[in-house]
Amino acid sequence: MTEWEPVIGLEIHVHLKTRTKMFCACEVVYSDPPNSHTCPVCLAHPGALPVPNLLAIEHTVKLGLALGCEIATRALFHRKNYFYPDNPKGYQISQYDVPLCGRGVFVVPKPGGDQQVGITRAHLEEDAAKNVHIGGAGGRIGGSAHTNVDFNRGGTPLLEIVTEPDLRSADDAKRFLQLLRQTIVELGISDAEMEKGTLRADANVSVRKRGEAGYRTRTELKNMNSFNFIARGMQAEIERQIGVWEAGGEVVQQTFDFDAASGALTPRRSKEEAEDYRYFPEPDLVPVEPGDQLVERARAAVPELPGTRLRRLEAELDFDLAEGLVTSGRDRLYARTPGDRRAVANVLMNELAGKGIDPEAVDGDELGKLVGARASLPRPVFAEAIARSGDEGFRAEPYLAEVAVTDVGELGPLIDTILAANPGQVAAFRGGKDGLLGFFVGQVMKETGGKADPRAVNELLRAKLAG
Ligand SMILES: [Zn+2]
Repeated sequence: MTEWEPVIGLEIHVHLKTRTKMFCACEVVYSDPPNSHTCPVCLAHPGALPVPNLLAIEHTVKLGLALGCEIATRALFHRKNYFYPDNPKGYQISQYDVPLCGRGVFVVPKPGGDQQVGITRAHLEEDAAKNVHIGGAGGRIGGSAHTNVDFNRGGTPLLEIVTEPDLRSADDAKRFLQLLRQTIVELGISDAEMEKGTLRADANVSVRKRGEAGYRTRTELKNMNSFNFIARGMQAEIERQIGVWEAGGEVVQQTFDFDAASGALTPRRSKEEAEDYRYFPEPDLVPVEPGDQLVERARAAVPELPGTRLRRLEAELDFDLAEGLVTSGRDRLYARTPGDRRAVANVLMNELAGKGIDPEAVDGDELGKLVGARASLPRPVFAEAIARSGDEGFRAEPYLAEVAVTDVGELGPLIDTILAANPGQVAAFRGGKDGLLGFFVGQVMKETGGKADPRAVNELLRAKLAG
């Protein structure tokens, strides 16, 4: 296993949160009876003309900015031609060689250094209608089984994000997707719920020998509907490919469905190439030219993003950013935990998943007590309590008893000793090197075995260094 290196790229589809469809005024509602939100445009009546949805364009620009993408000053819509019953026009309006968002980089915080994942592009397109198979998938001509088509979904706005093949393990790909999902949700452009199909991910997977230049043949995994399925599906495909190569065979380019229940990979049709779709510029639409005003408005609406927040909190709270991010379960804990909700969510983001804790197993009330007492607990005690918080029957009380050292009577003499032992640093600090405060705090922490309260130490140090 160690001599083989997985190479993974992802294609993510996100349903954008808009009131109306991508190119017509039909409302986007999935819960209503089939075919109750249709019009000549999304049913492809002859002569009907598309009009682009401005909000969908703004959402896409916002995401592009969050992913560090170049925003096109002039983007084009293309027709992607193919026949399928859920696609009445015989083509899908998508973007091809001039997408709204060009190259970018998405940074995923990881222990031991950030991971940079190249973004190839992010573009807008319309979704197909929904085939509803009655009495068996695919239907049977002449039999009782058949397929209905619900056009409520036809023409709804979809954002497609394509990454470079920069991911090197199934876990890395999962972590990337979780952070991307969280980013999308916080941007407010989609609910991005895999279970509801508003976020879908396909993976391109290949393997190569470590140190090998170039890429080997890749396969595609389609329509995986949870983060865990995705990771398991990719892992299964990685192992299958290694097996093929090691047996002297060749990996063939094909598309698989992953069945999470059986762990089986089922091959699908062979993959079409771009030329098969005969892309050409959509003659019914003018180019999209997002002006400076639109871009600046979108930029101003981008909040602090989860990746940035993780790094900031790691520094502020001195958390050990382990490996992972929690997304699911966060809202549930939010709802159940009184007090400092944001802090609870942040703790979850930073700590739980990275330690392999299932957020659903955590008692929100107990965790809330811990978070509430965070400032007065020694950091090693707090970290240990968080690590145990998913255990059955976990109680916060025993940890809450270990209060941090804030007593000036205890800390004062210790700080005096440390300052006396480092006259050079003291002089430099007084000469304006503010950064040295961290050095002194570090010394106090070391001497107290991490039990000192950092806020008290900070205050006391500043007072003593000023005097
Ligand atoms: Zn319509």
